Amino acid sequence: MTDIAELYQTLIMDRSRKPRFAGRFEAFDAEAKGDNPMCGDRIHLFLKRDGTKVLHESHGCAIMTASADLMADAVANKTPVEIDAMRAAFEEMVNSGKPDPSLGDLNALAGVSEYRSRIRCATLPWSALADAVKEA
Ligand code: ZN
Repeated sequence: MTDIAELYQTLIMDRSRKPRFAGRFEAFDAEAKGDNPMCGDRIHLFLKRDGTKVLHESHGCAIMTASADLMADAVANKTPVEIDAMRAAFEEMVNSGKPDPSLGDLNALAGVSEYRSRIRCATLPWSALADAVKEA
């Protein structure tokens, strides 16, 4: 493994074991659920529109939980249009495996492209977020 791959592996393990955005708000503007039966992943996501804050309750594999947590970090204070663009860039990145400088730490998930069945694990939180943004 290259240094960067090791660094990203550490980041994924850290965020899946100790997510920083796990939980739920007492009051929120929208919520959304998603599941990935192929892997057994389930997510329940909560969105506060003002300032865009996201919390998640994730039950699933390390990739899904880390993806949810890195996403919650990345979309803080972003507009719905910016979130939409990030989602498109993220999906392109996990499918192509090509890191995208605009995505920062989310690039930790680029390696998922080598495991086609795991791409859904990485994109599940983004699908749920898109649903929540639509509802808000
Ligand atoms: Zn999974």
